[in-house]
Amino acid sequence: MKPLECPCGGAAPGQRPDARAPKYAACCGRFIDGGATPANAMELMRSRYTAYVLGDTAYLRATWDESTCPPDLDASDSGTRWLGLQIRRHTPVDADHEEVEFVARYKVGGRAHRLHEASRFTRNSDGKWLYVDGQIKEK
Ligand SMILES: [Zn+2]
Repeated sequence: MKPLECPCGGAAPGQRPDARAPKYAACCGRFIDGGATPANAMELMRSRYTAYVLGDTAYLRATWDESTCPPDLDASDSGTRWLGLQIRRHTPVDADHEEVEFVARYKVGGRAHRLHEASRFTRNSDGKWLYVDGQIKEK
């Protein structure tokens, strides 16, 4: 079952906490299900967060740079419950490299966690943005 409202909440730098979530189909759904291509690393980052929420391993693999994608990647069976995404910063480095700093909140076994990461993205020769790797800012 696909959600009606997008799990990413339409996160963007400076977004108000009471901002209404966009419709899934108009937000990350068009990339995950619709075959549209994210125009920049921030759109890709949001859709990858949503793919984690939905347990969509195939989408995560398809948007991960081959050289850094873990071979045993599996988002489908985790006990992780994702609670929300906040985007702190979206920084274009050059035409084919961008960074996105985000905080994702989640619960495992009833315990709350937050992942604060600065992620690096690259655009391949087909014009497709891919996740490369990330630096954890704090646990
Ligand atoms: Zn979304």
